[in-house]
Amino acid sequence: MKSIVIVGGGSGGVSVANHLAYNLRGEMRSGNVSITVVEGSKSHYYQPGFLEIPFGMLEKDETYRPVEKMLARGIKLVNGMVKKIDLVGKKVHLDNRAIDYDFIVIATGASYNYDAVPGLRENTENMYSFQNAVDLEKKISGFNGGNIAVGVSSLPYKCTPAPLETVFLLDDYFRKRGIRDRVSITYFFPLPISFPGKDIAPAFDRMMKKRNIEERLGFNIKSVDGAKKELVSSGGDSIKYDLAIVVPPHRGAQVILDSGIGDQDGWIPVDKFTLQIDSHDNAYAIGDSTNLMVSKAGSVADAQAIVVSERIASSIHGDEPVQRYDGTGGALVLTGSKKAAMVNSSYDRPPVMLEENESFYWLKLIYNRVYWTVTEKAVLSEVIQ
Ligand SMILES: Cc1cc2nc3c(=O)[nH]c(=O)nc-3n(C[C@H](O)[C@H](O)[C@H](O)COP(=O)(O)OP(=O)(O)OC[C@H]3O[C@@H](n4cnc5c(N)ncnc54)[C@H](O)[C@@H]3O)c2cc1C
Repeated sequence: MKSIVIVGGGSGGVSVANHLAYNLRGEMRSGNVSITVVEGSKSHYYQPGFLEIPFGMLEKDETYRPVEKMLARGIKLVNGMVKKIDLVGKKVHLDNRAIDYDFIVIATGASYNYDAVPGLRENTENMYSFQNAVDLEKKISGFNGGNIAVGVSSLPYKCTPAPLETVFLLDDYFRKRGIRDRVSITYFFPLPISFPGKDIAPAFDRMMKKRNIEERLGFNIKSVDGAKKELVSSGGDSIKYDLAIVVPPHRGAQVILDSGIGDQDGWIPVDKFTLQIDSHDNAYAIGDSTNLMVSKAGSVADAQAIVVSERIASSIHGDEPVQRYDGTGGALVLTGSKKAAMVNSSYDRPPVMLEENESFYWLKLIYNRVYWTVTEKAVLSEVIQ
């Protein structure tokens, strides 16, 4: 019996579990393979929906479902936090038990390090968790005028276009409320360009200019002064705000830091093509948890899940695993006024943007719904039942 353990039942974890269950359905039926997902939360969240909750585009209860509902029949779900991952002893440790594995896939995502920026937690909002998104909806609907500062603390962070989408949606939202002239919007970013893709940053600059959104580039936030309502940069500049929406600094999950298997920020070093961790043939990491220079995006986690599930299935079948991840990732970018653009990239193709249009907007709205039913991970959970 081969035991496969997946740590994390988020976007990548569910995807890899269901692909594995599909690729190894014969072995699962005959009792030669077991697949276990260990997830600390009771809910699986569709995080792209967090961007839409504050603008009333998606109801909050449309963004999560019980984890067990996401998994194909036969996959075991252990609901609990993994405290330590032992890649040498091939065990994952929870509070009161340990699980042995032959293969492990780590999909623990990212966590937020608010303490890196004094004043950030108490004085700013964001849409990077379910609760933050729900709180932000109240702040925006109660906002009647002043400056809204939107930006990023540091790289890397999830969904690279999300802060840009936020300024576009704010512009659209306050126009519809008829008070756009009373609201100024400032976008700040730590790099000297507005987006980490130099070929498409100018297009975002033009889109912001057209919407009268001010840009403060190269702004590295050092602290937030809640009394003066100012974001302060390491260079000594400041941005006045009445409402600050700031993407918090990201790092790897606590368990990665505690297990000593990540870099200093808790990102797991993996081979960029095989997604294997260091020299461990039987250990993989996918999605936001890795140190790869690719977007931290669900599309990336899903593409990597396919590669890893096929590699593990090959190993179990006694074949040489040959599947390789090519760096593919992409996102639909909401730009307001019922439009969206699309950004795509891979290792040998720098990010390209397909211009905003209405079809992409409807595609995004459709995807919000079909995520639960006809994406690959959802279909696979049904097919093999
Ligand atoms: C506002 C916003 C908008 C976004 N928009 C897009 C978009 O348009 N397109 C796109 O492709 N991506 C988007 N993303 C990014 C996308 O949601 C993530 O990249 C994706 O969820 C990553 O999948 P993952 O499996 O690596 O991590 P996650 O989905 O975050 O899952 C990690 C899981 O691990 C669990 N976990 C962590 N530690 C432990 C532990 N010790 N024990 C057990 N379980 C643990 C967590 O509870 C969580 O369920 C967006 C994200 C945000 C926040």
